Amino acid sequence: MANGQHDIPYNVGVMTDVGSPSRIRILLPHIANQIAAGEVIERPASVAKELLENSLDAAATQIDIAVEHGGVHLIRVRDNGAGIHRDDLLLALSRHATSKIALPEDLERVSTLGFRGEALPSIGSVSYLSLVSRTKEDETGWAVNAEGEKAPTASEPRPHPPGTTVEVRDLFFNMPARRRFLRSEKTEFLHLHGLVKRIALSRFDVGISLHHDQRPVLNVRPAKSDEEKDRRLTSLFGAAFLGRARRIDYQAAGLRVWGWLGLPAAARSQTDMQYVYLNGRIIRDKRINHALRQAYDDLLYPGRHPVYVLYLEVDPSCVDVNVHPTKHEVRFRDPRTVHDFLYGRLHQALSECSPPISADGGESLPPWPVARASGAHARWAAHGRWPQNPPGALVQDRPRHHSIASETVVADASASRAAKQAPPPPLGRALAPLHGKYLIAETGLGITLVDIQAAQVRIAFARLTAAYESGPVRSRPLLLPVGIVVAETMVDLAVEFASDLARVGLVVDRVGPDRLMVREIPALLVRANVEALVRDVLAVTADYSRDGNANALPQSLLTTLAAHAHDELSGHLDLAELNALLRDLEQVDAHGEESHEGVVWRELSLEALDALLRRRK
Ligand code: ADP
Ligand code: MG
Repeated sequence: MANGQHDIPYNVGVMTDVGSPSRIRILLPHIANQIAAGEVIERPASVAKELLENSLDAAATQIDIAVEHGGVHLIRVRDNGAGIHRDDLLLALSRHATSKIALPEDLERVSTLGFRGEALPSIGSVSYLSLVSRTKEDETGWAVNAEGEKAPTASEPRPHPPGTTVEVRDLFFNMPARRRFLRSEKTEFLHLHGLVKRIALSRFDVGISLHHDQRPVLNVRPAKSDEEKDRRLTSLFGAAFLGRARRIDYQAAGLRVWGWLGLPAAARSQTDMQYVYLNGRIIRDKRINHALRQAYDDLLYPGRHPVYVLYLEVDPSCVDVNVHPTKHEVRFRDPRTVHDFLYGRLHQALSECSPPISADGGESLPPWPVARASGAHARWAAHGRWPQNPPGALVQDRPRHHSIASETVVADASASRAAKQAPPPPLGRALAPLHGKYLIAETGLGITLVDIQAAQVRIAFARLTAAYESGPVRSRPLLLPVGIVVAETMVDLAVEFASDLARVGLVVDRVGPDRLMVREIPALLVRANVEALVRDVLAVTADYSRDGNANALPQSLLTTLAAHAHDELSGHLDLAELNALLRDLEQVDAHGEESHEGVVWRELSLEALDALLRRRK
């Protein structure tokens, strides 16, 4: 070539000429980093993942995360881990620099979460990154910064406790196209929050806190005992989780699986509560998923997905994690054994929860005559399992699933024998949920249709009112107080009406000019969305304080609280729960169908049904 370009030596730093596209050149470091970032850094949650993994690899026992605007403006991760030696700080920001592996053999048995040495330089190439770190031996912390294309600055002293803080600001500030791909701050935060939960489930020994826009979102302390682990699960998944899951622990042939196996009753319409960890690493593996799907195969309706949090432990030399940059995928030396072990054990665990089926089927038969008359039970008896999708068997199918589901239902089954002879209760026996909204029950005369959520609200209102009349409503302290940002006038209002709120079971504190901390809510409202509830309560209180008619305040507060009593998951209630709901409704609602809130349930007699259908003919 005439311009003598070929004379330029293979040196990354000098390849700045872009005028000759046909020649091969080594990429400038920041471009190489941006390409690497393209593989692993997709959104704020992926940044958080890399930073948290680094903290865990540094043996941190406490990690505090603060994000602003869904993580797009800021993600700060602070840990109390080993720290980075001052002389290595700049190295940590260069590509392929890692302290985690050194020799090719090391790659054969990676036990850290990171090892590619790409995360920090990748993140630094698409954001403003600052790294402050102090080892146990250091007197002070040391800081370095990276800003997109600029080479990282030299380190300078900065006060810092032993450990590391990484701050990532303005993600993709220099990549408008990628920035445009980010979704709303709310969505990005949901992803990030989900990621933090997944990490919190992966390491019970580490305390983790998360703040979003200064508000506490999650805070879990290190958990050692089984009870503490259960508590962590409850604080991540809600109070109902443990009641619908079984704890398991199996070991064989160098493999171990332990964790929580959701019972069929806990199944969901999405796959969003399926967590599988391999040696502490979050993974998505087709074979493992397949084994799990099979284990639940005949226990779930089509379209329902099981819930589980499972930990698989294998010898690190039996699995290759260096398959994909995000390290979600792994390759087992012996995938068949892993698959069969999982399927075998989990399937067994699930079927062990099921009451034995007697030869004549009498004992475990569902109590409803309609079920006896159907062919579903015959099919079960013949094949030892329910058909995949028994036509019209919804009604008969449910109780068996749920007798697998929990001890309470086992008790229910023996009670149901008596129930077979007894006349049906006033609102009937639940046959099935309908479209996640209604339940249908069979009465002595016909059927009742019940609006599930309306029923829950009605029951809650009655109970709250009764509780209020016999003293202050019992409250329940929140495991994690909920911070809420509201208008200053609302904060004043909450303070002014604090005793009225306390009387209905709400304890709310002022923690800033525009901030409230919700500490206790009525014990009856197990599943309420706390923030929405408090906002509604404040709105009602504001109305009354404006109208100067605080006499009717308690009544309105109780109505508002009751409105939050419905279970968002009521579509997933099982038969035992639906029957319990009917019995509760009978208790509070002896006086008929209509009420000022509208119709909660209606009965249709057989004659009415006959007439209805005949007219259609
Ligand atoms: P990798 O994790 O693959 O080694 P990273 O780019 O994520 O690569 O990090 C580079 C190096 O920086 C790590 O190998 C580690 O030595 C150091 N490092 C990063 N974050 C931390 C941290 N929070 N605490 C201690 N060392 C860290
Ligand atoms: Mg890393």
